Amino acid sequence: MPNQGRRWFEQRKDFVGTARTAAPPKDESPDLWTRCKSCGEVLYNEALESNHRVCHLCGHHFRLDAISWLRMLCDEGTVTVHDENIGPVDALTFVDSKAYANRIAQSRNKTGRHDAFISLSAELDGIPIEIGSFDFRFMGGSMGSVVGELITRLYERAAERKVPAIVISASGGARMQEGVLSLMQMAKTCSALARLQDDAGMPYISLLTHPTTGGVAASFAMLGDIILAEPEALIGFAGPRVIRETIGEELPDGFQTSEYLLDHGMVDAIVPRTEMRAKLSLLLRQFLAMPSPVRALNETTPAQKEAPVAQPRQSNDDNR
Ligand SMILES: [Zn+2]
Repeated sequence: MPNQGRRWFEQRKDFVGTARTAAPPKDESPDLWTRCKSCGEVLYNEALESNHRVCHLCGHHFRLDAISWLRMLCDEGTVTVHDENIGPVDALTFVDSKAYANRIAQSRNKTGRHDAFISLSAELDGIPIEIGSFDFRFMGGSMGSVVGELITRLYERAAERKVPAIVISASGGARMQEGVLSLMQMAKTCSALARLQDDAGMPYISLLTHPTTGGVAASFAMLGDIILAEPEALIGFAGPRVIRETIGEELPDGFQTSEYLLDHGMVDAIVPRTEMRAKLSLLLRQFLAMPSPVRALNETTPAQKEAPVAQPRQSNDDNR
């Protein structure tokens, strides 16, 4: 498959820009400035984008779209896109407040994508990986048959190529408009993942962003060899109101946040977005027993030190 790296990202960058102008998120004014909803600081949009949409003053993480996530983590010029043209079908002719077919059409118009997941082969800091990201703008990043199939194929490609897999989750859970077909994706993705981890012996890093809930949180998102979360992300299965009403008790402060899950051993680390690429590189190198770039640099230093010593000896011999 041809390498679509930079051109693909640039096309999507234009598209993302258009989509933002058409429907700016509530926390963002459509012009040059954004007010941080955590500290109230007025942030210059260009500076906010260059800091991966993290407030430089208080560290608040604004939502980062799927393309920007992948652009941030993948090495330029190494990207091959997979399964771009697989779209959902309305097998149950499902209608809630709207027909499912209409919801699909609306999400397609909004995102320019066939479903809520983007799947790539790429390199991260020179390490070959299979990586995918949810697009939360497509029906809340819900997992139907297509998303499940794309994630399954991602794990299968990683197992075949013997490379690590990374999935960036941002999802409301299973797509109820596909009924049991969407619930089946939980078992399907987990089976493919088990083959990657157990048979191919390759690591899977799950990266949880705001929000990761429902059937996604209840399947592959929580099965990473390493599970990383963004600060203050909502991570859980059912919403707090449903849990409160079911168990008839008040929930503790910070329930279902990254920090709460870290305290209770459900995630391995909370990593600020600005450090995510370096952290993933370090973890992957440890899993794959590859030398870190820092150590490689140190290893060349003694040789470089010897070179000038050897040089004068050579020239002394010439003089004699
Ligand atoms: Zn702030």
